[in-house]
Amino acid sequence: MSPGASDKEIAGVVALVEQSGGEAFVSRGVSRTIVGLVGDIEAFQGLNLRAMPGVADVIRVSAPYKLVSRIHHPQMSTVYVAGVPIGPDTFTLIAGPCAVETPQQTLEAAEMAKAAGATLLRGGAYKPRTSPYAFQGLGEAGLKILADVREATGLPVVTEVVDAHDVDLVAGYADMLQVGTRNMQNFGLLQAVGQSGKPVMLKRGMQATIEEWLMAAEYIAQRGNLDIVLCERGIRTFETATRNTLDVSSVPVSHDLSHLPVMVDPSHSGGRRDLVVPLSRAAIAVGADGIIVDVHPHPEQALCDGPQALVDDDLRALAAAVRQLPPLMGRRPATAATPAPR
Ligand code: PEP
Ligand code: MN
Repeated sequence: MSPGASDKEIAGVVALVEQSGGEAFVSRGVSRTIVGLVGDIEAFQGLNLRAMPGVADVIRVSAPYKLVSRIHHPQMSTVYVAGVPIGPDTFTLIAGPCAVETPQQTLEAAEMAKAAGATLLRGGAYKPRTSPYAFQGLGEAGLKILADVREATGLPVVTEVVDAHDVDLVAGYADMLQVGTRNMQNFGLLQAVGQSGKPVMLKRGMQATIEEWLMAAEYIAQRGNLDIVLCERGIRTFETATRNTLDVSSVPVSHDLSHLPVMVDPSHSGGRRDLVVPLSRAAIAVGADGIIVDVHPHPEQALCDGPQALVDDDLRALAAAVRQLPPLMGRRPATAATPAPR
């Protein structure tokens, strides 16, 4: 309320809130009185409280997302991808090539991933490239390769969809749909993956706040799909030594605000092979539910993101970190299991 608001004006606000089915709590300070409103925000929005005499400002305190919020769902969620859990009790390694290039390259990368302890395979058939002249992915031919490699290795597949029109096609092959950083606020795509019936990995927009990220997740949830895993993949800062800056804080912050699992992508965060293992260790220590990592049998020949792909010694170091560190955080490896009933 304004500093000079009268008792009558305060009582007027309280009465209006109560008439709309809400509760109003008045706290009187030395210079100012605050009226706290509890109830259905939509009912309050219709009241035009700002126009009431004595009102100085109306501030929304509660989170603008509901379905993904922890207030509405205090228990942390576990999302199952073809039986592989991503959630608070486990640590999930997803690995594979940035892009599907050939059957041989994809199979070799999948075998490397599996040997390192991965229980899900990543690989892009539709690549959201900054340049229209860069390799755009193999499209459906790439999805077929992923399906064959799943058959050969037993690893369920996580792959990106960049266009709402392709969601049904991609969902026909994939076990989990990935929405990339550049599409985090592509609302038509979010709604389409929300209706796909498949679990979704939602990467954080490189320039998005955590609240915007959770609002994007809410779009998916609103279409009836709560099988959403958030993925922190680095944000844009003034720093040029790394491709993006991994925002480690986003893991505990989003865990506090949302019941959704949160993974980290140390490959796209740093954009540098030598940073992948250190950033993975950081991700584990900060409480991430898993990591998604680029591997390639011949990084120097990769059509996309070769400089960040792990091979040989780096991959062995990653495997050791993923074996040794999560148990210290009370987590077990994420192997396929029967989903617990919700
Ligand atoms: C990817 O994972 O292949 C990718 C393109 O990631 P991002 O959307 O985070 O850049
Ligand atoms: Mn990439």
